[in-house]
Amino acid sequence: MTQSPQSILKSVFGFPEFRPGQLPIVERLLAGTHTLCVMPTGAGKSLCYQVPALMLERPSIIVSPLVALMDDQIAGLAANGVTAAAIHSGRDREQNVAAWRAFQSGEAKLLYLSPERLMTGRMLDALKPVNPGLFVVDEAHCISKWGASFRPEYEQLSQLKHHFPNATLAAFTATADSATRTDIAEKLFGGEGDTVVRGFDRPNLNLAVLPKAQWKPQLLGFLAERREQSGIVYCLSRKLTEEVAAMLKAEGYRALSYHAGMSPEMRRENQEIFMAEAAVIMVATIAFGMGIDKPDIRYVFHLNMPGSMEAYYQEIGRAGRDGAPADAMMLYGLGDASLRRRFIDDDGEDDAHKRREHQRLDALLSYCEATQCRRITLLSYFGEPGSKACGNCDICLDPPVLLDGTREAQMLFSA
Ligand code: ADP
Ligand code: MG
Repeated sequence: MTQSPQSILKSVFGFPEFRPGQLPIVERLLAGTHTLCVMPTGAGKSLCYQVPALMLERPSIIVSPLVALMDDQIAGLAANGVTAAAIHSGRDREQNVAAWRAFQSGEAKLLYLSPERLMTGRMLDALKPVNPGLFVVDEAHCISKWGASFRPEYEQLSQLKHHFPNATLAAFTATADSATRTDIAEKLFGGEGDTVVRGFDRPNLNLAVLPKAQWKPQLLGFLAERREQSGIVYCLSRKLTEEVAAMLKAEGYRALSYHAGMSPEMRRENQEIFMAEAAVIMVATIAFGMGIDKPDIRYVFHLNMPGSMEAYYQEIGRAGRDGAPADAMMLYGLGDASLRRRFIDDDGEDDAHKRREHQRLDALLSYCEATQCRRITLLSYFGEPGSKACGNCDICLDPPVLLDGTREAQMLFSA
């Protein structure tokens, strides 16, 4: 190996440095360690395997579930002067044959495949003489029944380790709690290998939870200092979003609502206004947010508690994409908590599923009731170690006074 990962990063991709967490993955894959990497969406997982794929002698296979994801990556690599090949159903036979030739001849060092195409007998036979050194499973949570989006065609990938015992296996995902992670590592690596979790920290988000009392004055008090800012207020029900938006309008705010019961045109219009204008409040259900990439959302206010830690993390993650300080404020009330419990009990899923959803809700409840730094609580839930008290969550800024019961007890009994 003549070049370092850093020099490839610079010369091929044009980036001055790795983001936190990327280099350790690159190094593990270069060293031949099976690795499961858990990093949030947008953290830069692709580079973690593209850089080693360009450095290794032997070619690499990237397994991806969607044609669109493969094409995106091939186009991105091509823009950087890297030839990569893909064989998939969105291309005609000639294109697929040409892709195979490019890969077999070594012109393309990366080949993108769907799991079902990779695991056909023909493809496996054709690949063995090519001797790939690295197999990357992207969106690896699809292999686990614990995950939210199990795909049966991923399950066969558990045979890879038997077909290619001399290859390094890597798995990437943004969403895997600890049960899912163990399951992925078990299926792909037979339990061997490393799991690396990084990049979940969003230091510019100020995390806070407020016991729910009168939500109207609580919300208005919060907004009063933020009249010039854009933000999202999340509500549990469609009806509530409309009620809250109307209430805010009456208070002189520019507030819009957004929920799945509105017409598509109305939703699009409100979303466009929110994206384009300043100081707009979007009062929404969870229907709002997928793919919202407005950099200067300054706050996410949860009027109701979300259903799980994962949901909470996703929702607050929409604030402060520009890196400037942003607030994540949640009102926490026991009424919401028991409502969430009931939702899980009534969701019609099997018992194992319900148990896991209850656990995810429990995690959020302990986050709400935490007496130590919220960021530590949040990051340790996602398995990211080594964080120290953040200094900008409500608990760090205003530590709860933990009552020492002894004095009270003495007073009670001394009279
Ligand atoms: P993920 O798969 O984790 O969701 P991607 O691999 O699609 O994320 O990367 C998200 C974006 O981050 C891409 O635009 C990518 O070019 C960019 N990116 C990744 N690593 C770096 C880096 N070290 N420096 C700058 N930009 C990066
Ligand atoms: Mg990705």
